[in-house]
Amino acid sequence: MSQTTTVEVPDIGDFKDVEIIEVLVQPGSTIAPEDPLITLESDKATIDVPAPQAGTVKSVHVKTGQRVSQGDPILELEAGAEAADSEASPAPAEDTEAASAEPAGAARASSTPAPQAAADPNTDSQCQVLVLGSGPGGYTAAFRAADLGLDVVMVERYPQIGGVCLNVGCIPSKALLHAGEVLHEAERFAALGIKFGEPEIDLDGLRGYKDKTVKKLTGGLKQLAKQRKVRVVQGVGEFTGAHSIAVEGDDGREVIGFEHAIISVGSQAVKLPGFPWDDHRVMDSTDALDLADIPERMLVVGGGIIGLEMACVYESLGTKVTVVELSDTLMPGADRDIVRPFEKRAKKRFENIFLKSKVAGAEATEQGIVCRFEGEAKGLPEEDTFDRVLVAVGRSPNGAKINAEAAGVQVSERGFIEVDSQQRTNVGHIFAIGDVVGQPMLAHKATHEGKVAAEVIAGHKVHFDARAIPSVAYTHPEVAWMGVTEEQAKADGIEYTRGVFPWAASGRAIALGAEDGMTKLLFDAEGRVIGAGLVGPSAGDLIGEAMLALEMGAEMEDIGLTVHPHPTLSETVAFAAEAAHGSITDILPPKKG
Ligand SMILES: Cc1cc2nc3c(=O)[nH]c(=O)nc-3n(C[C@H](O)[C@H](O)[C@H](O)COP(=O)(O)OP(=O)(O)OC[C@H]3O[C@@H](n4cnc5c(N)ncnc54)[C@H](O)[C@@H]3O)c2cc1C
Repeated sequence: MSQTTTVEVPDIGDFKDVEIIEVLVQPGSTIAPEDPLITLESDKATIDVPAPQAGTVKSVHVKTGQRVSQGDPILELEAGAEAADSEASPAPAEDTEAASAEPAGAARASSTPAPQAAADPNTDSQCQVLVLGSGPGGYTAAFRAADLGLDVVMVERYPQIGGVCLNVGCIPSKALLHAGEVLHEAERFAALGIKFGEPEIDLDGLRGYKDKTVKKLTGGLKQLAKQRKVRVVQGVGEFTGAHSIAVEGDDGREVIGFEHAIISVGSQAVKLPGFPWDDHRVMDSTDALDLADIPERMLVVGGGIIGLEMACVYESLGTKVTVVELSDTLMPGADRDIVRPFEKRAKKRFENIFLKSKVAGAEATEQGIVCRFEGEAKGLPEEDTFDRVLVAVGRSPNGAKINAEAAGVQVSERGFIEVDSQQRTNVGHIFAIGDVVGQPMLAHKATHEGKVAAEVIAGHKVHFDARAIPSVAYTHPEVAWMGVTEEQAKADGIEYTRGVFPWAASGRAIALGAEDGMTKLLFDAEGRVIGAGLVGPSAGDLIGEAMLALEMGAEMEDIGLTVHPHPTLSETVAFAAEAAHGSITDILPPKKG
């Protein structure tokens, strides 16, 4: 049976009381979804209002010259099977209800289609999707949208695309951590019968290797953008309206109109007050990755992942590193047992680790940066002088720096942009992804959110539905965890079974000198994986298997019965499952009871 619906003027951003300059349909017209119904013209733009669905126009409520606002009825539409079907290139989704696979938790966009901006005389160019920021979230969204047939512009303030991750984050830090690990290995091999001479560190060479690694990737991205016909515009972008962004670059100002935007402007290091930031010896992670020199003594403020990774880099190059952390543990968020092997090694290799302590003030002097300490750590000095200080106490989102209010996008006081599970902001045609939408601030979260945003815009019925997001500290040794931690399970009263395999019983780990490693899996009452923690070389790679098990709803028997290659570290995942199951033979099965 056919059904008649009233089509209303949709949310048209900051337009109100806008003139209809053309009515494009009449009673009896058969229309396809997205067919233009009326054309509106304001002093800012000309906008076609598209049909939300196929059908036959029964009656038209408006006429040319009439002024309308959001919610005014346009026409009565009878939905029918005979209605024309649209088949052209992917029609961008404008309707949260239509595009949503399941009710997306906080979906709050209007259920009427957002208007498609027709060429705005005030813009210099136009696109279907504008991606603001080219980090892992941004470039993934841009590339996916382009692959789905959409016309995409990506705006980036820096000449190199790739964002924090590629340029001053994940990639350069891992290049340096790898070099550091090789230095450690070379040192360790002296006891195994292979002796190398004292390492000679050519800092320019090391920096060159790191830069080359970054360049290879950013160059590859540039190529991929070109091949996909994603136009990259360099400059700082700011919203000027609900459908336009102005980009200020070296070549001048360009105002780009868009139908949809994806905000992926990421985050920046928190500059803790009280430090003499104008002194080059006080660094954030970006400065630390520059490797200006190898300081004799360095203080790392913050015992989270980024601080500890950089601490490992500098320690392996010969710096005496002190870490000061406000909480009572390093790597807050991970279970103590999987952090312990790292802590043990760090205690030996770092000059000092001060927990439950903070820097109360810092001053630049000729001798160095004098830091005053306060806290409960044993042996904490009142003050100490360091050649360099790295402040790594977290990152703050860039949401408040893009004039989002011009588009009506809400930004929290801290600079985060709230989104629903389809990555939609409070403005239906504007999406946000990555660090700017919240924790955890990790590249793999950003990329997955980027794909969701692009696919929703292209009309796919998807939403972001990850059961867990893994965390990895690429320290020496690596520490990785995902899902429910044991400490969280205990605190929340979650019933669980624990399967632990100590790497001291793994032939491969012994051969690698990684006997202090450990694999731990947590299972719920039905025996399904709910969490995992690993410590040891390649823990970050191994956590991928536990993630797959979690997403697939794997049970302990599934993992234990999966034949893993021997001798590998991946076996330890299967052994941990067998330990929980009680069928382990490589160690004694844990006592039941
Ligand atoms: C030292 C370090 C190590 C890290 N290691 C890891 C790791 O190993 N694994 C991991 O998962 N994560 C890691 N991270 C975190 C990771 O880098 C971020 O989570 C990730 O880059 C976020 O991606 P994004 O796309 O949200 O934003 P970003 O990568 O921050 O990219 C945002 C981009 O937007 C641009 N931009 C901002 N505002 C504007 C504007 N107005 N106009 C134009 N362009 C703009 C910025 O220049 C930037 O290029 C690390 C971070 C740091 C600092």
